[in-house]
Amino acid sequence: MTAAKAGVVIVGGGQAGGEGAIALREGGYQGPVTIVGDEPYPPYERPPLSKALLLGEASIESTYLRGGGVFAERDIALKPGIRVAAIDRAGKGVGLSDGSGLAYDKLLLATGAVVRKLPLPSADLAGVFYLRTIADTLSIRERLTPAATIVVIGGGYIGLEVAASARKRGAAAIVVEVADRIMNRVVAPELSAYFAAIHRGHGVQIRTQTTVAAIEGDHAVRAVRLSTGETIAADIVVIGVGIAPDTALAAAAGLGIENGVKVDEFGATSDPDIYAAGDVTNHWNPLLGRYVRLESWQNAQNQAIAAAKAMIGQPAPYAEVPWFWSDQYDLNLQLVGAPLAWDQVVRRDGGDPNRFTLFYLAGGKLVAANAVNNARDIRPARQLIAKGTPLTPGELADPGVRMQDLVKR
Ligand SMILES: Cc1cc2nc3c(=O)[nH]c(=O)nc-3n(C[C@H](O)[C@H](O)[C@H](O)COP(=O)(O)OP(=O)(O)OC[C@H]3O[C@@H](n4cnc5c(N)ncnc54)[C@H](O)[C@@H]3O)c2cc1C
Repeated sequence: MTAAKAGVVIVGGGQAGGEGAIALREGGYQGPVTIVGDEPYPPYERPPLSKALLLGEASIESTYLRGGGVFAERDIALKPGIRVAAIDRAGKGVGLSDGSGLAYDKLLLATGAVVRKLPLPSADLAGVFYLRTIADTLSIRERLTPAATIVVIGGGYIGLEVAASARKRGAAAIVVEVADRIMNRVVAPELSAYFAAIHRGHGVQIRTQTTVAAIEGDHAVRAVRLSTGETIAADIVVIGVGIAPDTALAAAAGLGIENGVKVDEFGATSDPDIYAAGDVTNHWNPLLGRYVRLESWQNAQNQAIAAAKAMIGQPAPYAEVPWFWSDQYDLNLQLVGAPLAWDQVVRRDGGDPNRFTLFYLAGGKLVAANAVNNARDIRPARQLIAKGTPLTPGELADPGVRMQDLVKR
């Protein structure tokens, strides 16, 4: 892109939007860059929202992407508290919620995701929350006193992190999960069982194969009625039942949508002047050989960087083995790979009961690994997945076989 007049407009001031803007400058782009984000903060990182910020151990400012000051330093204009209401592809401009408009040469869509809502009676009572934003965390935290009981609907990562944070703050916590085990979407049953035991050991009640039939209360939540017929008293309800890519704007503009805004490995959409990155996309991953929609820090950062580089004529494909982490109590869980299936799970002990790695094999090749307090296995596992090295269960299970030696093979 040369001699830009209108510059780059970024829709969404989250992690992908912020990283994309910074990458434009790092790539030498000198035209105007504007981030339009509907939250009242500069771009920030969400992982602390269910962990350190919820615990009160981190400040709001500490979540700001690269400290927050980077945008002024790099001459990146921020428009917080403003929504992009519409995209005019023919006229290459966007209409904003304050009635103004912005022209663009290139547009980056980084609208992220919206929480999936549960159509429950009384879900609008005070004390019932979803968790996506700083505002959500602050509201939950205010009520999370040692005297409180919190019911978490959904036993995925965010729900479990909230339960762990609640216990750390002294509140009683109950997790209600519709499936027969927690974290059932992406990990093997043995890991679910391990985490369930850890949570129970910290006093969390876990009800699997159970749903919430109704939330009860007058102005504020008082109790939750379960599908089992049981009613449990509750002061706070946090609903964590997943997210959906925020494709409304892209769909209204007629862009290709399929389980997210469909983009290639450069973040390009069906419009040559519009790119997309982060939770909102379903992207082509050349390493995996398929489209994948990810909800992760890594994807928000690195896909946005790849998209920004492609927008300014420096294309380099985004092709990484997916990586994610979750912190619960003193456990750090890291996951690499996004397997659709596996035929064997092998455990490698790390020297104590709370330090180990599970390796997932399909056809004699590694497709994923989950490391509990064992981050050192993640890098080699990622390399083994990317290379498709043939491996035996025995060598993966044997702590005496160095992972690095398997990579060198
Ligand atoms: C509580 C929580 C904990 C997490 N923990 C982890 C973790 O431990 N590890 C990990 O890898 N990942 C974690 N994640 C996931 C990770 O934070 C997300 O994948 C990442 O934030 C996605 O970034 P994004 O920029 O694509 O989307 P978002 O962060 O959702 O940002 C999109 C922004 O765009 C705004 N927006 C949308 N539409 C418009 C519009 N029309 N106009 C203006 N603004 C708009 C939205 O309000 C939002 O501010 C966590 C997420 C949450 C919510």
